[in-house]
Amino acid sequence: MRLTRELSVLNAMEPIVIQLFEDRYLKERTLVCDCKRCQLDILLLTLNQLPPKYTSTQEGEAYIKALYLNPQFQSDILKVLTQSVQVIENRPNHP
Ligand SMILES: [Zn+2]
Repeated sequence: MRLTRELSVLNAMEPIVIQLFEDRYLKERTLVCDCKRCQLDILLLTLNQLPPKYTSTQEGEAYIKALYLNPQFQSDILKVLTQSVQVIENRPNHP
């Protein structure tokens, strides 16, 4: 199985969730634990609950920006992201 291809598909939700997470949580320093492990767990938990939105890497940037600028879309993701933060904060995968 080849994991990299010349024509790549990209889940637009990935950069969007990461961007929102950075803006709303990392910059504001509101996390109980902001270690790499917890950050990754929060992102994974969030992304696994959201339906993917695939695009090609070529067209990706404009598509992602347009999605990101939609306030309803942002607030839907933030809802899931906030729940994930709470789940991981209550049960971090480390002592
Ligand atoms: Zn942690």
